[in-house]
Amino acid sequence: MPMTRRGMLRGMARLGGAGAVYETLAAWDFLKPPPAMAASLALPRESGQGKTVAILGAGVSGLCTAYELDRAGYTCIILEPTRRAGGRSLTLRRGDRFQEMGHDAQECTFDDGQYLNAGPGRIPHHHVHVIDYCRRFNVALEPYIFASRANLIRSGTPEAGKTRPVREAYHSLQGHVAELLDKCSRRPELELPIGKDDLEKLQEMLVQFGDLSPADRSSKNTAYSYKNQHARAGYERPPGVADPGKPLSPLKLEEILRSNVWDDWLFRDGEVYWQTSLMQPTGGMDMFFKGFLRQPLSRQLGTLEGLIRYGAKATEIDVQGDRVRINYVDSGTPRTLDADYCVSTIPMSIFRNMKTNLPAPFMEAAKKLPIMAAGKVGWQAPRFWEIDANIYGGISWTSETIDQIWYPSSGYLSATGVLTGAYMRGDAAVEFNKRPVADRLRIARQQGERLHPGYTQHVQHGLAIGWNNMEFQQGGWADEDAGDFGPNVQVLAQPQGRFIVAGDHITFWSGWQEGALLAAWHAVAAIDKQVRPAGGG
Ligand SMILES: Cc1cc2nc3c(=O)[nH]c(=O)nc-3n(C[C@H](O)[C@H](O)[C@H](O)COP(=O)(O)OP(=O)(O)OC[C@H]3O[C@@H](n4cnc5c(N)ncnc54)[C@H](O)[C@@H]3O)c2cc1C
Repeated sequence: MPMTRRGMLRGMARLGGAGAVYETLAAWDFLKPPPAMAASLALPRESGQGKTVAILGAGVSGLCTAYELDRAGYTCIILEPTRRAGGRSLTLRRGDRFQEMGHDAQECTFDDGQYLNAGPGRIPHHHVHVIDYCRRFNVALEPYIFASRANLIRSGTPEAGKTRPVREAYHSLQGHVAELLDKCSRRPELELPIGKDDLEKLQEMLVQFGDLSPADRSSKNTAYSYKNQHARAGYERPPGVADPGKPLSPLKLEEILRSNVWDDWLFRDGEVYWQTSLMQPTGGMDMFFKGFLRQPLSRQLGTLEGLIRYGAKATEIDVQGDRVRINYVDSGTPRTLDADYCVSTIPMSIFRNMKTNLPAPFMEAAKKLPIMAAGKVGWQAPRFWEIDANIYGGISWTSETIDQIWYPSSGYLSATGVLTGAYMRGDAAVEFNKRPVADRLRIARQQGERLHPGYTQHVQHGLAIGWNNMEFQQGGWADEDAGDFGPNVQVLAQPQGRFIVAGDHITFWSGWQEGALLAAWHAVAAIDKQVRPAGGG
């Protein structure tokens, strides 16, 4: 009986797991990776046979390392000190408990079906490794709205600050800048570095860019001005029956400039990280790492999650010529694990204080790697933002400590939703996260009230998480913008014999799961190179 394609694939799956099916499909050209997909690591399937790898940490990076090594025949053991996988990828739902060091324990009391992504919340469209694994593991993605022109922006002191829709500030500023440039372009004494024809093109472009109106329609040479004629900045009176409506008078340029709304917030969706489109796994970011957990092992029964020893905290790393010895504490009992290789994804704020025999310059680099704090607040609330402000997703910004409020990108028009009621990083997060939980919630309520009158009454079931307060994180992510990052990351990315560091902190996608995956691939390739010097990556 001729074997059907589906039958053959089922057979492959029984023999070698989902990875085998994927490789088979790819090798037969049935499943050509689309150009935007990350290239597959696809190490030879038996290349790691007989070798063990200790992976420290069951976050995204550790799980990806284990998944790829398992497919190549390695035996992996993952040590994870907490009772859950995912690391910083933490989605909180009703009944979930967590405790920061030195603070009261918190329990999520949201309604069933509601959740807060307390760590990562969004996936940029160019994070091809994350998206590729979602594709392979059938993790459903939906749009994550980063920016809506209906979102709010607030700057200035608590007493004298003003809250406005982003559209008003954004388009008024754009219009004024276009008007200024148009005026300059008509001053013969200003020697512009373009010819006459291009200058005319520039002027035409500025009319579109800034929604400019001719000041005097009879003369082609008169400067254009910004009047919000097409209501890009919003309406004072919206159009109605037999009524074209009345566009808002634009904000004055000096008012926008002095308010500082352009500083940090207004153009954030222009940053490559946050450019449209962004996505989120439907039902919570933890759906992503759970995709790894449920993958069948390639050579034994069970799933990838079975490789994790929960409650096992690595305490000492001893790299020897032919193996790596890891001392760890397993639910209070000291134990030793000898492995051929070791990949550590332990957050750098913790790793740098561990006992190791790694070279002094390497540990010095670990000490110097700048780590920044991060904190979030989450609330459940009736969807007042939809009813009162026509906000459907996106982020409102404020110059106060909470920095931003995220609105849910799904569940529109339902009764309730979860707001990220604060998300700050760096020094602001250090200060905020020092405060008791009740204090943080009080501040987040007060500052939210200045964006949305009535906020204090609406928001309930508050949670506050300071990532620098979490025992097995002690930070948000490595700060790739700090001067100390680059030189130290160069050192930390170098394999130290049989010991390799993974985790987003050694990549220039620090603070992103994409970085965690890139680092995992880097570690897998480094091991493969040692195991197969002639043919490895
Ligand atoms: C507030 C916040 C927002 C974020 N937003 C986004 C986002 O929108 N999109 C995005 O893609 N990314 C985002 N990130 C970044 C993302 O969470 C990380 O890039 C990713 O989760 C890192 O994975 P990792 O495996 O490298 O590290 P981690 O997830 O930190 O995993 C490290 C693991 O090591 C374990 N460990 C600690 N000590 C030991 C020990 N002694 N022995 C063994 N194991 C140990 C920890 O318990 C943990 O499980 C955000 C992060 C934060 C904190």
